[in-house]
Amino acid sequence: QAKNLGRSRYLFFDQCIYDNMRLKLSMEEQLRKSLEQKDFTLVYQPIYNTHSGKIVSAEALLRWPYGSPDVFIPLAEETGLILPLGLWVLEEALAQAKRWQDAGTPLVVSVNVSHSQLHQPSFADKVCERLQKCGLEPSILQLEITETALMEDWQVSIANIQKLRDMGVRIALDDFGTGYSSLSHLQQLPLDCLKIDKSFMARIHESPRDMALVQALVELAKALSLKVVAEGIEYEEQMLLARTLGIHYLQGFFLAKPQPVAQLELNRSFAALSHGASASAQGVHN
Ligand code: C2E
Ligand code: MG
Ligand code: MG
Ligand code: MG
Repeated sequence: QAKNLGRSRYLFFDQCIYDNMRLKLSMEEQLRKSLEQKDFTLVYQPIYNTHSGKIVSAEALLRWPYGSPDVFIPLAEETGLILPLGLWVLEEALAQAKRWQDAGTPLVVSVNVSHSQLHQPSFADKVCERLQKCGLEPSILQLEITETALMEDWQVSIANIQKLRDMGVRIALDDFGTGYSSLSHLQQLPLDCLKIDKSFMARIHESPRDMALVQALVELAKALSLKVVAEGIEYEEQMLLARTLGIHYLQGFFLAKPQPVAQLELNRSFAALSHGASASAQGVHN
């Protein structure tokens, strides 16, 4: 009897693994199809200057009709599809940067880069080539990399980042605080800014410990002469605290959600949304 039980349990697990594999396979198939049929879209989330309230950049975020980025990005990475997909994101974001520039409203676009892309020895050259093709200055582009992306193939990743930075592309370390960068690694990285992960920002308005932690991260960034972006600003209190902490740039649902290009209000500064409008309220008028 025990033996039967054991076997049915075994079959149960087997069935789970099987279902899981089938789901993954069908998702992978759908990802491939979507890449061919151009089913992907980009939405953009503004990043604001804390003091002027103006938009300094727009982060491109990938959207797929069949699942959220937290699900399909890891799968795309696992299957290698992230390489063509990531290139598509870059091309599409640069094309948008060109449209904004041509319209007289130039804006830095921020593009997320996956570790597989960064590990390709030719990555920096690919980016350079795309910029030239669009006739854009490298400084119109910011690339967001993560700490985990770096750890796997440090040498190649660093070489890519150094090359890009020398060209004038801006480099941001995304999800800062959630990875494993040691201080010495951070010091070696040619970065422009750190994006403090939203998990650290989530409770700063109610938890003194979280507030102290963010303060320490900001001081660390400043000691390294880096700019700081706080992501995940969902409440006004968080925004005001971020301001008092001297965080340079802000991003979050309270200020603006990721949205299609047509819905972006590039001239609207966040001070217009804030009751605690201070000196930065001037940003509304110019
Ligand atoms: P990320 O780069 O750290 O992007 C921030 C995520 O937080 C986005 O989720 C954004 O929609 C969300 N977010 C923004 N403001 C708030 C807020 O106030 N509160 C909360 N709770 N969330 C906020 P999204 O768009 O679902 O993307 C998730 C992750 O997927 C991204 O994290 C990034 O790692 C990855 N991703 C998205 N697009 C791309 C892409 O084109 N390429 C690569 N390699 N990864 C991408
Ligand atoms: Mg990002
Ligand atoms: Mg992030
Ligand atoms: Mg993230």
